[in-house]
Amino acid sequence: MRSDPADFELLAPGNLSSAVSLLAANPGEWLPIAGGTDLMVLYAAGKLPARKFVSLWNLPELRRIEVTDDGISIGAACTYTDLRRHEILQREFPLLAAAARWTGGIANQNRGTLGGNIVNASPAADSLPALLVYEANLVLVSVRGERQVPYNDFHTGYKQTLLAPGELIREIRLPRQHSRYISYSRKIGARNAQAIAKVCVAALGRLDRGTVSDIRIAAGSVAPVPLRLRETEKIVRGKRIDADLVGKARATAISEIRPIDDIRSTAAYRAGVLGNLIAEFVQKLAAAEGVNVALARWNSLPPEDAASEILACCGSRTWARELAARRPFPDAPSLIAVSDEIWNHLEASDWNEAFSRHPRIGERKAPAAAPAQSAAWSSQEQQGTVAADEQTRLHLAEANREYERRFGRIFIVCATGKTAGEMLEILRRRLPNDETAELREAAEEQRKITNIRLKKWLAI
Ligand SMILES: Cc1cc2nc3c(=O)[nH]c(=O)nc-3n(C[C@H](O)[C@H](O)[C@H](O)COP(=O)(O)OP(=O)(O)OC[C@H]3O[C@@H](n4cnc5c(N)ncnc54)[C@H](O)[C@@H]3O)c2cc1C
Repeated sequence: MRSDPADFELLAPGNLSSAVSLLAANPGEWLPIAGGTDLMVLYAAGKLPARKFVSLWNLPELRRIEVTDDGISIGAACTYTDLRRHEILQREFPLLAAAARWTGGIANQNRGTLGGNIVNASPAADSLPALLVYEANLVLVSVRGERQVPYNDFHTGYKQTLLAPGELIREIRLPRQHSRYISYSRKIGARNAQAIAKVCVAALGRLDRGTVSDIRIAAGSVAPVPLRLRETEKIVRGKRIDADLVGKARATAISEIRPIDDIRSTAAYRAGVLGNLIAEFVQKLAAAEGVNVALARWNSLPPEDAASEILACCGSRTWARELAARRPFPDAPSLIAVSDEIWNHLEASDWNEAFSRHPRIGERKAPAAAPAQSAAWSSQEQQGTVAADEQTRLHLAEANREYERRFGRIFIVCATGKTAGEMLEILRRRLPNDETAELREAAEEQRKITNIRLKKWLAI
């Protein structure tokens, strides 16, 4: 701890007007503090920019959420927990609700406030892209009175805002007009919880008779400020979605951002991931109208190209050729149904070819013959083995060897969502199987893996 509490002063006025008066009395001397989750990090590091603090915590004017027919008004000192508990907000503003869920851990959500997140102005903050696409308005208050500013204009540069000295955010207003919109939000971080975003996206879109009538996309951690991707929106708005438009949206989004290399990620990774997320969102919009863009494009490829592209979902070349020959498919469920039918009637040699494209359980490196996409999926599927302790890894390696001695091929299990311990248990249960029963079980696991991969490939 590099700060001494004795060096600091904290006043906790009982109402908002006392707080703004205090801020005005000695401009620049008093700093507002709400939940303190950002300021206490600076305190611990000895980097607080002020010695005197005026607490906004629990000021009644800043702690309420009011709903009218047209909008919702969120007091700036409402915490993430307040947002998570508000039924209308959860239902009508899923992008903000998701950001509240993703922010820090439970303790952080009990203290951290929406106003603090806005003023702290981190380009990686989770709730800010949602506020951009909902086109929030901020109500600012000071002794001079109040003014309303569009949130889209609030961040003027890295950690720079429109907030004037002595001014506070009183509330954040969101219009209630998104019931016909499709929402999309993703946070990409090192872990699912307690991680600052490497990239985050919030987006809304609406289609009318197959055409994108409105679209709004915002991203975090890809520029000095949370960014609305207006050029990308322009490219997509008013168009029918096809594979070409998805590609243009991806490229335009990448051209609009200014990512950097830092301790959390690299500029190249951020750009690549952002492009993928934007493509996924635009495909999701099309899917809402029953159009799967990836499937429509695949349906139109020459047979050899179609078979080669889909091979990553299941490593059997016969399966891929037969599936390509059964095109066109009207939708994802019919593709998956035909895939199952083909797979279940293949020869054992075809099944074995598919099995041989997987890495061993516990060894995430795929065989050289596996397509790059297949190798990437294998690595995701085996996430459960990353956290395995040394002993479980050794047991897995040993059981793998025993399985291969007994059956002459690698052990196949649908690893998605399973821990290393669970996979080891399944492996040990299957070791006493006879060859026929075991081959059937392995084939069934491969069928499940194929279906998961087909869904990833189709972005559904
Ligand atoms: C362990 C940990 C994990 C975290 N994880 C995440 C995460 O996953 N995602 C994320 O986005 N953030 C995360 N944060 C950052 C932080 O929790 C949020 O930014 C939070 O919303 C800040 O709110 P606060 O009330 O605590 O702000 P404070 O620390 O009280 O204040 C932050 C800044 O805002 C100003 N301020 C606060 N309220 C107002 C107001 N009404 N008007 C004017 N100025 C005001 C203060 O003067 C200060 O400059 C994390 C922080 C910690 C410590």
